[in-house]
Amino acid sequence: MHKGKRGVLFVFSGPSGVGKGTLKAKLFEEFADRIAYSVSATTRGPREGEVDGKDYFFISRQEFERRVKNNEFLEHAEFAGNCYGTPRAYVEKLLDSGMNVVLEIDVQGALQVMKSMPECVSVFILPPSFEELEHRLRGRGTDDEASIARRLSNAASEIRQAHWFDAWIVNDNLDKAYDELRAVYLASTLHPAHRPGLANTILEG
Ligand code: ADP
Ligand code: 5GP
Repeated sequence: MHKGKRGVLFVFSGPSGVGKGTLKAKLFEEFADRIAYSVSATTRGPREGEVDGKDYFFISRQEFERRVKNNEFLEHAEFAGNCYGTPRAYVEKLLDSGMNVVLEIDVQGALQVMKSMPECVSVFILPPSFEELEHRLRGRGTDDEASIARRLSNAASEIRQAHWFDAWIVNDNLDKAYDELRAVYLASTLHPAHRPGLANTILEG
């Protein structure tokens, strides 16, 4: 890492079940040395296989509210009956160390980040259709009927806000969607703001 280089903040959003987690995992597989994922705090209970500190920090509503009051979140939102928040200090520390950081958050949270950190790069993942979105949510097998219904009813209002984002990717064919995501990621890291001193190094020999 160059000294003084600040990483890219990459905000990743889209309806629940669209494939954000799947695409994010592929990005991490390829760029593990340069990307860090910010682990969010949530009041949702862990799903089978989810690990505290890795998938989320699972905390009580009371503790969540304490952190909100203490201004510990970069953004936070209530989604489908649970609270979610991004730890501010951790994200700032990673960006300052030159790591690129991915936030996988809901649309309300993404809009807050775009306002407070307008230099971020935001990507909205779209499903090929509502039928397919429902099929994926059910196929994942992690949510009960009530949770699936809440997630689907959120999806339309989230898609209506997609115009705020820098890039749209339709996750129909996974490989094609990943190629597009990879292109956005790579392009965003080439901005001069993320390559301080590079031109001078060449000029000075
Ligand atoms: P999200 O993180 O957006 O809630 P997930 O990554 O958990 O979504 O994906 C939801 C389900 O859809 C998972 O079972 C995943 O394997 C599946 N999935 C993801 N992308 C595709 C795709 N392009 N085609 C078919 N199924 C997909
Ligand atoms: P899930 O319960 O399926 O893990 O997540 C539900 C929604 O909350 C997803 O859209 C996910 O991206 C979003 N989410 C996860 N962490 C955060 C966060 O820290 N802040 C916000 N605003 N949304 C989050």
